Amino acid sequence: MSDKNTRRKFLQYLGVGAASCTVTSCNEQTSHQAKSPSVVSDQIFNWKMITTWPKNFPGLGTGAEFLAQTIKEMSNGRLNIKVYGAGEIVPALEIFDAVTAGTAEMGHGSAYYWKGKNPALQFFSTVPFGMSANEMNAWLYHGGGMELWQRAYKPFGLVPMAAGNTMVQMGGWFNKQINSVEDLQGLKMRIPGLGGEVLRLAGGTPVNIPGGDLFVSLQKGVIDATEWVGPYNDLAFGLHKAAKYYYSPGWHEPGTTLECFINEEAYNSLPGDLQSIVRNAARVANQDMMLEYVARNNDALETLVNEHKVDVREFPADVIEKLRALSEQVVADVVGSDPFAREIYDSYQGFLAKSKAWYNLSERAYLNMR
Ligand code: CA
Repeated sequence: MSDKNTRRKFLQYLGVGAASCTVTSCNEQTSHQAKSPSVVSDQIFNWKMITTWPKNFPGLGTGAEFLAQTIKEMSNGRLNIKVYGAGEIVPALEIFDAVTAGTAEMGHGSAYYWKGKNPALQFFSTVPFGMSANEMNAWLYHGGGMELWQRAYKPFGLVPMAAGNTMVQMGGWFNKQINSVEDLQGLKMRIPGLGGEVLRLAGGTPVNIPGGDLFVSLQKGVIDATEWVGPYNDLAFGLHKAAKYYYSPGWHEPGTTLECFINEEAYNSLPGDLQSIVRNAARVANQDMMLEYVARNNDALETLVNEHKVDVREFPADVIEKLRALSEQVVADVVGSDPFAREIYDSYQGFLAKSKAWYNLSERAYLNMR
């Protein structure tokens, strides 16, 4: 089949303008018409996606690649996105500003990295003791969360989309046992977002350093402890070679949303069908990353425990209760700082309250009896 026939079939499959617009006639559209959402354009877009992850890092970096590849396939090569690892164009934690500035059209990270812009942005990553991955996605897609996220990124000229989720993370790697909250005092730990502020209230010192620097920082004693993600990602960095104890659960990150964000001007320059492809490819990537984490964490935990003899422990109940109380304080501080933060959190918390009632009768009830 010729390329033209393939293209025509693809357009028919999409049902976008296929009845009124042949490939030839679309080629003759003016550039102004091509930008109208109802018209299919043959214009080729070549974009850059900059990320906070090491290039092709399992789950996160590969999730960004998966998104770019899916968009390329779905658009039949009309939107090509080259993915760059952290530091290749700008350092990991500078991608937000760089996409606002138009240095690249897309970024891939997580919203809590941008808390310096506005503490309320952290609610679009994860909240300690907050929503699971399923709940977070339900809130974003069907509970009003996405509209709030779009409003929150609008002042920065960015269009956000959920593009992955790690599921429940692990509590982190420590070189001493955590038997009481006092054991957290004086601890210099890599832990981002709201969880980091909780550690600060518990007497520790939170730092945020990019994932790629974690192993060396921990090994050289620049930090005393670190969390990263979970067995799949932590094994890839070899964190078990730099710390003795691996604590569960990730109270601070119960279902962290990964994001892609797009320069608003670049997004608006896409014809409507490509905008739809980007949005829906992000939904596919979001789902796929979650499932990859479920499958690979299972394998990696087995390797860490059986092959590397990692000492896996659970935080004591009284430590968790103290961290829960401090988390409520941290969230209250953010919510009290800004009316929009309150609006976002009221929506988040309202959804979570209802979800807890149903989850207690469904997921939790089932898991407890399994
Ligand atoms: Ca983490």
